[in-house]
Amino acid sequence: AEKKRARMVAMNREAALYYMEILSRNPHSLNYLKNRGIGRDMIMAFGLGFAPAGGDQLLGHMKEKGYEEKELFDANLLSYNEEKNHYYDRFRNRLIFPIIDRKSRVVGFGGRVLDDSLPKYLNSSDTLLYKKSRELYGLNRVMKVSDRSRILLVEGYMDVISLHAAGIGYAVASLGTSLTREQARVIKRYGKQVFICYDGDNAGLQATNRAIDILAAEDIRPRIVVLEEGKDPDEYIRDYGKIAFEGKLNRGLSSIEFQVQNLEKNFHLEDAASLSEFLKGVTAILSKVKSPVERDVFAKKFAETYGVRPESFEGEIRRGNMKRP
Ligand code: ATP
Ligand code: MN
Ligand code: MN
Ligand code: MN
Repeated sequence: AEKKRARMVAMNREAALYYMEILSRNPHSLNYLKNRGIGRDMIMAFGLGFAPAGGDQLLGHMKEKGYEEKELFDANLLSYNEEKNHYYDRFRNRLIFPIIDRKSRVVGFGGRVLDDSLPKYLNSSDTLLYKKSRELYGLNRVMKVSDRSRILLVEGYMDVISLHAAGIGYAVASLGTSLTREQARVIKRYGKQVFICYDGDNAGLQATNRAIDILAAEDIRPRIVVLEEGKDPDEYIRDYGKIAFEGKLNRGLSSIEFQVQNLEKNFHLEDAASLSEFLKGVTAILSKVKSPVERDVFAKKFAETYGVRPESFEGEIRRGNMKRP
């Protein structure tokens, strides 16, 4: 297995170099990247590439290099057509984002279409080398360029690259899937202060809520940044720049404030019945705060904001009279 793994490392590297070479000679995709603010420096830093459309070009190249179809298939570089009994390139006509692990090995790939056809992204599935639930896109860059005092969690490839391009060298992406325990452990090892800035849409908010709980299990208390108008970090930083974005990070909410703010949207606080339902939700959020001091501080704060006595939260918690938010 160790030998197989080493061969897969070499194979992925060869494929990544091939895709890079194709990109360097492909004005259309270079132009696409340029329009998205990605120039030569980021292309090199992230090893971006392009997969040709035909369906057998990578296969041909890799065969020339001495690799066999079956092992290319196992590395997720080829797909297999059962009816026609043949192998073909898995990534076709897509921008390629190699996924590089902490040891600088290419372990997998993501591919994006250049138009709005679907699926927008295609990713490697798990292989001998790649465990999706463990990797964080961009972490290898973060280790190279940042001082590790912060780590910022975002959703996508383009968010990471765009932030790095703007001088925010501490962004990593969980890549669409919701954050896992294993990723949370990795984050814990690498970042002192953790920030979450997912897309400012409903899916992003839900994903943030889940990430908060997963990070909490590792005793990580992230600061949360919510972007308006459904923007994602890539769009935000390109519209408003680094200083505005870092300002937002510095004003980031604690998990508790974020959860309460998020919950509030579902209620009409001028209606007494709705307000008390909401406050039960706030109680549920507070009840998850383990430290009594911290709980007290937030209870006071929310009590003031919503016009109740701080003791009522504790009373509610003690009676176990709460509904999950
Ligand atoms: P772009 O800015 O290029 O349109 P994005 O990163 O903003 O892309 P989102 O739709 O916000 O795209 O998705 C966030 C991340 O989720 C993507 O970067 C990708 O890793 C993953 N993802 C999105 N769509 C898919 C898909 N159809 N299949 C697999 N992964 C996906
Ligand atoms: Mn999104
Ligand atoms: Mn985007
Ligand atoms: Mn997005």
